[in-house]
Amino acid sequence: MTIEPGPARYDAIVVGAGFSGLYALHHLRGLGLRVRVLERAHNVGGTWLFNRYPGARCDIESIEYSYSFSDEIQQEWVWTETMPTQPEIEAYLNFVADRLDLRRDIAFDTDVVAMTFDETACEWLVATAAGESYAAPFLIAATGILSVPLEPTIPGMDTFAGTSLFTSRWPEAGADLRGRRVGVVGTGSTGVQLIPVVAEEAGHLTVFQRSPAYTLPWTVRPFAPGELDELKAQYPQIRAAQREHPVGAARLSAFSVLLEMLAKPPLKSASREDRIRAVEERGIMGALDWGDLFFDIEANRMAAELYGEAVARIVTDPATARALTPSHPFACKRPIIDQGYYQTYNRDNVTLVDLRTDPIVSVLPTGIKTGSEIGSGVHELDVIVYATGFDAMTGALSRIDVRGRDAASLGEFWATEGPLSYLGLAVAGFPNLFTIQGPGSPSAAANFVAAMEQNVEWIGACVSYLRRHGYRTIEAQPDAQQNWMDQAAAIVESTVLVHPSCNSWYNGGNVPGKKRRYMGYTAGIPEYRRQCDEIAAQDYAGFTLA
Ligand code: NAP
Repeated sequence: MTIEPGPARYDAIVVGAGFSGLYALHHLRGLGLRVRVLERAHNVGGTWLFNRYPGARCDIESIEYSYSFSDEIQQEWVWTETMPTQPEIEAYLNFVADRLDLRRDIAFDTDVVAMTFDETACEWLVATAAGESYAAPFLIAATGILSVPLEPTIPGMDTFAGTSLFTSRWPEAGADLRGRRVGVVGTGSTGVQLIPVVAEEAGHLTVFQRSPAYTLPWTVRPFAPGELDELKAQYPQIRAAQREHPVGAARLSAFSVLLEMLAKPPLKSASREDRIRAVEERGIMGALDWGDLFFDIEANRMAAELYGEAVARIVTDPATARALTPSHPFACKRPIIDQGYYQTYNRDNVTLVDLRTDPIVSVLPTGIKTGSEIGSGVHELDVIVYATGFDAMTGALSRIDVRGRDAASLGEFWATEGPLSYLGLAVAGFPNLFTIQGPGSPSAAANFVAAMEQNVEWIGACVSYLRRHGYRTIEAQPDAQQNWMDQAAAIVESTVLVHPSCNSWYNGGNVPGKKRRYMGYTAGIPEYRRQCDEIAAQDYAGFTLA
């Protein structure tokens, strides 16, 4: 008789070693738990390891898009620019992993394929692609909100004879685009960052645009000598301000600009002269910086028109400028910052294809064929770059076979009932599974790092409470979960965020067949924290403890 070796046992298992997983490991370790992190990649970094496309950077200031829990780390680490590039964030996360000696508790190249709750033992069993198994009473999904790439299903994609690249898994060795004919599909945050950089390198760049983006022009700059040191000296105040700010970033960020717009006068009551003057004086910001765009779809349409006028002042070819004018409501998708995006379309080596009028038919071995192209109908390409987004918020856990009570599948539950969660932290039917920044959490419209730190600390306090009081399970109650999601929905009910013409990762509309529901919580991190703390203080109201 052979005895199968049992699973490796821990107090908690964390899946993912990005920003959240690293902090979860450090924090839970500090509470005395034996923790194992399982990470499919060969290194730490999560989304900042995979999305290494040219131009990748964060649109929140580096001194705020960073861990606040350790003064040593924030004093020691040196940011070089106001908004950090991908390589710098990746290096920062490696620094943190080494500084806190995290790697010894991380299993790299470990792809989790199944997570099953054993109701008798009150523990989670985690299986990996390599056949290993792990067990722990608590399971923390630090699997990221934008970690599952959404690849288009264009006929003939795999017949392309050139190089196909995906921004969300850019080769570590880089890609040589010099002098080559490059096509980019997708003009979301990623495409808008990538396109100006690729245009400088490529022989010719063809942008295939399905929905034109609204972008906020931005200046990123290196820190002046001594500037970072001055900021570091003010860290207590900076972190305190951040903590009180709805989006978890009190300084300039794509989100704070949107918030500031809310306080501006309404566009609808401005005269035609005022509107034109705003665009003349402030360009794109003049078109968008009005208070009623979030709530009044008519005002929003007027802003879109103004936006088109502002774009036409930058882009010299009128047809290209028209094609770059969005037809969906402003602010229903995540804000995008740009550095020289529209100017790129004035370059001789850049062509825009408006897929609204000239849709992609197929990918051929030699390039991309679109609907109304005259002549051969083919845009000849050496490289195709897909910047087509993510199956956000629920994507990562839906791809793992997660089984809770009665072997119910989390993926199936979300697919049929929609992306429900209590506080974004737990799902009814899945005891002892904590989801960092799941659906119904502030992460979608806030500084992820700030939102995530709050979640990790709340989970740590919760696990300590359970252990202290001898509880073996905690589980969200279906009613509390529904109430929470209804509360989150009510906040955005009267805004363009839920307008039917808006397909975005915020509402799942970007994923064919995904159940549509706005997945963010937009009352701000301080209010979210207050409610989470209140629930904890009421012995975890809305949860069943057993
Ligand atoms: P995204 O915003 O979802 O944009 C995807 C783009 O691909 C859209 O333009 C989409 O068009 C297009 N697309 C998708 N499928 C297509 C198809 N079959 N044919 C043609 N076009 C197609 O994704 P993302 O740009 O990767 O950004 C996702 C999120 O990641 C951002 O919202 C942000 O939260 C984060 N991010 C942040 C930064 C930053 O910090 N600055 C940078 C990059 C990403 P439609 O709009 O018509 O669907």
